[in-house]
Formats: sequence, C-alpha cells, structure tokens
Amino acid sequence: GALLEVKGLRIEFPTRRGTLTAIDGISLSLNAGEILGVVGESGAGKSLTGTAITGLLERPGRIAGGEIHFNGQRIDNLPSEAMRKLRGKQIGSIFQDPLTSLNPLYSVGRQLIETIRTHTDLTPRQARARAIEMLTQVGIPAPEQRIDQYPHQFSGGMRQRVVIALALCVDPKLVIADEPTTALDVSVQAQIIDLLKTLCREHGSAVMLVTHDMGVIAETCDRVAVMYAGRLVEVGPVQEVIKHA
Ligand code: ADP
Ligand code: ADP
Repeated sequence: GALLEVKGLRIEFPTRRGTLTAIDGISLSLNAGEILGVVGESGAGKSLTGTAITGLLERPGRIAGGEIHFNGQRIDNLPSEAMRKLRGKQIGSIFQDPLTSLNPLYSVGRQLIETIRTHTDLTPRQARARAIEMLTQVGIPAPEQRIDQYPHQFSGGMRQRVVIALALCVDPKLVIADEPTTALDVSVQAQIIDLLKTLCREHGSAVMLVTHDMGVIAETCDRVAVMYAGRLVEVGPVQEVIKHA
C-alpha cells in the first residue's frame, strides 16, 4: 500500500460568525520514495495539509474530518507523545525559514548529534561521525570545523543545508518540505532543490514538496497535486497536469 494516505481531510477554524473550512475534504496518497509536488495559490491550503500530516497543526485549527494513515498506521488521532516520536524518526520537516527548524542556542553539531542519538542506538562518537557525514553530504565545506558553530554563523543557503541534514540524519520515510527555498537567494535555490532530491533518493525518503514554482515541479517531482481554495483540484503525473495548466 501507499506510505501516506490522506482520506477526506477537513480542517476547520472557529470564527466569530461560525466555522471556516480551510481544507475541505482532500484525499491523496504518496508512495515510498516518491516525490509529490503540491502547488496552488497562496491560501489554497498547502501548508495546512503538510502541518496536519506532521501533527503540528495548532489551535484553534482542528482536524474536523477524514483520516491520515502513515505506513499502515492511523496517525491523525495519535497521542501527542507518540506523534512526536513518529515525527522525530519517520517524518522530517523543512520549512521556508531555516531558523524555524534550528535552535539558536545549540551548535549545529549538538542538534544533529542529539537527534541521531534520540532515534538510533549509536554511541556519542558514532553519532558525531554520522553528523559530520551528513554535513558533508549536504555540501557544508570543512564540516569538522563547522560542526561546532551556531546557526547564526551560517549563511541562509548553508543554514538550509544544515536543516536538510537534520531532517535526513535518521533516514525518515517521509520528508515534508514547505517552500524550502523561497526565503533563499535565487542563486542557491536550484542547488538546494537538487540536493534535496538527490539525498532523498539516496536515503529512500519520499518527499511532499510544497512550492509555488512550476519549474521546480517539472524538474523535480514524479506527481503533482494542485490545490485551490482548500480543495484538491487535480493530482497526476507532472507532464499531464502541466498540459492542463
Ligand atoms: P497555503 O499554504 O496554500 O498558502 P495555508 O495552508 O497556509 O495556505 O492556509 C489555507 C487557509 O487556511 C488560509 O487561507 C486561511 O483561510 C486558513 N488558515 C490558515 N491558518 C489559519 C489560522 N491560524 N487561523 C485562521 N485561518 C487560518
Ligand atoms: P549562500 O551563502 O549559501 O549563497 P545567502 O544567500 O543567504 O546564502 O547569503 C549570501 C551571502 O551573505 C553569503 O555568501 C555570506 O557571505 C553572507 N551571509 C549571509 N548570512 C551570513 C551570516 N549569518 N554570517 C556570515 N555571512 C553571511
């Protein structure tokens, strides 16, 4: 079966006048190792969909209907502790602003090593070696020196590489990347997308890539889902969907 299955998902926000339905019954699936693009204009519901899958939807938003299944397990109603574990080990997140994913008070090495040690049984020494290997994979020059530096000591592009290392260091089955290059210098955007694609293939991780950039979709994704006003308008192979656009 599919790695991820979203069935009839509904997300609501209470308003003074009643209820706002932000996501109105969307269904989609993602297979292991696949890269699914999610496009749609601002406010279409792309971020909320990713947020619901990772269990990070915040009040007053709530899942008002439907189900989310991951790896054969229903996850939309998991207790928060179980969801936190699943998120740490199996579902990686990459957001527009790399600083969202990094703790400014810890060196990047400490963050990588703690994540690796929480979700594997590697020793501290092995975890450090693994962290350096990940920083190498994401193209951080001189990783042995940079591992003890803090997030603010990296440029925006380099920081997002660190976030990718952090997301992939435990070989998650799924990575949710929400506009991962929008905040970066145009000159590094293509490199970062390329890196994300290559590494997710190497690590066998499926990706849900939220972007407004059709060029990125065409170059990177296997299938694409088009959202509009909280609904899924179309989902299919990239070439077919682009033909209709
Ligand atoms: P996208 O990522 O496609 O730009 P979002 O998923 O962020 O869109 O938001 C979809 C819609 O959900 C918004 O247009 C808004 O109506 C509603 N929404 C999102 N977050 C909130 C919130 N915190 N409070 C109320 N409504 C919200
Ligand atoms: P990249 O360096 O990966 O292209 P940016 O576009 O974010 O990423 O940064 C452009 C340039 O600005 C960097 O090459 C670097 O010289 C400088 N820079 C940005 N942020 C920092 C920082 N926190 N510390 C030092 N230099 C920085």
